Amino acid sequence: MYIEVTGAAGSKNAVDRIVCMRLGPRVLIDAGSASFIPPEELNEVDAVILTHAHLDHILDLGFILDSMVHTRNRPLVVMGSEACISIVKTHYMNGLIWPDFTKIETAGAPLLEYRVLPDEVWVELPGGVEAMAVPVNHPAGARGFLFRADGGLMVYSGDTGPTDTIWKRARAEGTPSGVFIEVSFPDSSRSIALASDHLSPSLAADELRKLNSPDIPVYVFHMKPWFAGEIAAEADVIHPGTVFLNQGDVIPFR
Ligand SMILES: [Zn+2]
Ligand SMILES: [Zn+2]
Repeated sequence: MYIEVTGAAGSKNAVDRIVCMRLGPRVLIDAGSASFIPPEELNEVDAVILTHAHLDHILDLGFILDSMVHTRNRPLVVMGSEACISIVKTHYMNGLIWPDFTKIETAGAPLLEYRVLPDEVWVELPGGVEAMAVPVNHPAGARGFLFRADGGLMVYSGDTGPTDTIWKRARAEGTPSGVFIEVSFPDSSRSIALASDHLSPSLAADELRKLNSPDIPVYVFHMKPWFAGEIAAEADVIHPGTVFLNQGDVIPFR
């Protein structure tokens, strides 16, 4: 199993893509920039798990569904917390902003199905990977995830401010193979990070200390593009050997 980065940024411009990761060939984590995935590879995707309903994480969901209307013969299952799914249904795929694809059938089945993920329970996903949703400190129904496959465990913070439960849950599962953690702002904007339920380098370092696994690989995503240089200069504050994710990166589970 692997996580492949389609987009890793916390906002978009001509070069930086918003958050979308591929959890093996059959699952997407968020769909911000999912329309950059080639159609033949999108056709292999069975499920999208959403960390939350903010626009930078759901934007391209509408566009990939649109592209699937005439090619797809099975539903795309969109998973998330109850609040997240409710927001997507009510405020995005509502027949006003964009079509309600649960009402569009292809080959006798709806193109879109929703599935609410329970908290703090392991759930099997397509392709031989399991996920556990854990509430984090961020709006719009936000969850972080633990993923396990091939004997490896990955922690994926999603968008969050300082939080505790996901680190506690991860500790209970053993030593992770790696941590994906958001760092949206540099420390010069630490107060804005806190006010918007995000992390800066020193705040991310405080979070990683809660995991108590000092030697594990740390992968950083969700940088605001205009701060990417300033955040990169603070890499050592986050964790020794911090890796900043870029589109195209592939991180194996072990
Ligand atoms: Zn967010
Ligand atoms: Zn975000």
